[in-house]
Amino acid sequence: FGDSKDFDSEVESICPFCGVGCQISLKVKDGKVKYVDGINGPANEGRLCVKGRFGFDYIHHDHRLTKPLIRREDAPAKGLNVDPGNWQEFFREATWDEALDKAASGMKGRGREVAGFGSAKCTNEEAYLFQKIIRQGFGHNNVDHCTRLCHASSVAALMENVGSGAVTATFNEIENADVAIVIGANPTENHPVAATYFKQFAKRGGKLIVMDPRGQALKRHSSHMLQFRPGADVSMLNAIMHVIVEEGLYDQQYIDAYTENWEAEKAHLAGFTPEKMSEICGISPEMLRDVARTFAGAKAAMIFWGMGVSQHIHGTDNSRCLISLALMTGQVGRPGSGLHPLRGQNNVQGASDAGLVPMFLPDYQSVMDDGVRSAFTEVWGSEDFSNEKGLTVTEILDAVHAGDIKSMYILGENPAMSDPDVEHARDALAKLDHLVVQDIFLTETANFADVILPASAFAEKSGTVTNTNRQVQMGRPALSPPGDAKEDWWIEVELAKRLGLGWDYGGPEDVFAEMKKNMGSLDNITWDRLATESVVTYPSLSPTDPGQPIVFGDGFPRADGRAKFTPANVIAPDEVPDAEYPMILTTGRQLEHWHTGSMTRRASVLDALQPEANCSLHPSTLRKLGVEPGGMLRLTTRRGTINVMARSDRAVAPDMVFLPFAYVEAAANILTNPAVDPYGKIPEFKFSAVRAEKADQP
Ligand code: SF4
Repeated sequence: FGDSKDFDSEVESICPFCGVGCQISLKVKDGKVKYVDGINGPANEGRLCVKGRFGFDYIHHDHRLTKPLIRREDAPAKGLNVDPGNWQEFFREATWDEALDKAASGMKGRGREVAGFGSAKCTNEEAYLFQKIIRQGFGHNNVDHCTRLCHASSVAALMENVGSGAVTATFNEIENADVAIVIGANPTENHPVAATYFKQFAKRGGKLIVMDPRGQALKRHSSHMLQFRPGADVSMLNAIMHVIVEEGLYDQQYIDAYTENWEAEKAHLAGFTPEKMSEICGISPEMLRDVARTFAGAKAAMIFWGMGVSQHIHGTDNSRCLISLALMTGQVGRPGSGLHPLRGQNNVQGASDAGLVPMFLPDYQSVMDDGVRSAFTEVWGSEDFSNEKGLTVTEILDAVHAGDIKSMYILGENPAMSDPDVEHARDALAKLDHLVVQDIFLTETANFADVILPASAFAEKSGTVTNTNRQVQMGRPALSPPGDAKEDWWIEVELAKRLGLGWDYGGPEDVFAEMKKNMGSLDNITWDRLATESVVTYPSLSPTDPGQPIVFGDGFPRADGRAKFTPANVIAPDEVPDAEYPMILTTGRQLEHWHTGSMTRRASVLDALQPEANCSLHPSTLRKLGVEPGGMLRLTTRRGTINVMARSDRAVAPDMVFLPFAYVEAAANILTNPAVDPYGKIPEFKFSAVRAEKADQP
């Protein structure tokens, strides 16, 4: 980067990738971000991973959308891959007025025929405005975002049993713990800066218990590594809890003071002996007993989990087990204790808090509650809207196939890559008679659009975001959007005006002020405070309180102040391997790439580090298939087939295939199973039956 002091300006903001929420300083030279430094935010203390430090130049990529686009009347069929360098065959440039008028005219007055997908990459204010457009503008709750694809089942279990969908303690609290479980998460790849705190914890003698069907880098730092069979979480966790009950290691005083339904849980666990469960989960009874004693014997213990827990048809049951384990040992509400689902995208916590989900208004207030709806409509100055829970991401696309939804507004989501059984999703997008896509690139979803609205990257806008730690942080603009692109909040407001909603906001600050009227979580947090302090954790108890890193030390936000035990049964994955599809496919992310790759594959350093679609199999499996590392494999499930380069990885069990989902040329979600968890409605991305064969060519 040449002389590191040679920049025109520096602006403090937040990394746009993962839920860790690292604070960064953008160094700007000649209207471009020259480089990025980590600064002293509470979640990163100056640290950054490769994405945060080197993944920013996508914002200057020549594929950026700079003008509103309207589909040409003589354009080829919707969904054909549009070459970003040759989009003129499909779209024509338009003025903002023309594009917004056309976008609104395809939605206005269509009520339940319209649905919306918002984005966890947008700010809290943009997420709030998006859900408001759907609820106020169309009178229903058919609005959702990618939380449905990551932690919806964790939130369902936390809301049910603890009364709040957010973490009970920041991940930094691990410094006060002596035992920690990390299950179904691969933090060194997916939450890399959080992983540095986990490694420091282990280095100073903390016992790190890693549980994952796939081996991972944290194994080297672990006291216990449980590489259990995919999908066997409940059997393993119930066996551990069985031992805690059998050996009387639970905290009766805590259970009596703060919980309910303990006797039912205790009785339920009686049948889950380590000897019996070992046959299902593949972990020895001795190891299960040792883990139970280690966790129950901790002075302070935390549980971290990721999408290996949540992305199953029994994802809610998996989280219920983790909550029960923490409750029975009294490991909530004290320093070094707590429940922490590691949230994925940089603002998935905030977007969910802001009501970008079909069952809740902001702050997880039920859409079915008449009083809640009237509190919002009073602030909005609008009519009441539906008291029925709306449709989720996958249900909305099913409703498009059924002909019930005909028009969609998609902001920053890419369902043509991110949904399970993605051909089904793409067919749905092609069926819409009106699709408005607001994004910074011509994504795979934008290929299906009728109107494309060019939006802003994180470095080009103001707004707040909330990380996995409940830390509300201020994002600040370092640059102007390119060409005619605009900040997302502005586009939403202009669209709402054309839908007749009479909105009048001067900027995100006004939106934040409105959010505070019905969001108790933002009490004592103001725009001015965030502008000055950059971060406040919710809940904040006074105008000078930086916020509470640990919550629920004195009861839970449930009707009687008690958390609940909900027993969980062993449920088989939806699609078990058979003779035709004998292996298990699991999907996930890699360190260098972010979700559907629209940003990181356009970041030059990251793309150079990881340029090619790939999958990983155990070396013995590759030998059996007659495929050399670097050779091509054909992967087939009941949904489709892809060809992809194979890598050899001893961390992957011999009957498994690990497939990252960032690569459009070998889209993982062509293969994945759309079956969903009945509570969180999250698809089972972590388990599909697959056949792997040698492929002759790419
Ligand atoms: Fe960004 Fe997450 Fe890396 Fe921090 S850990 S720099 S938030 S991607």
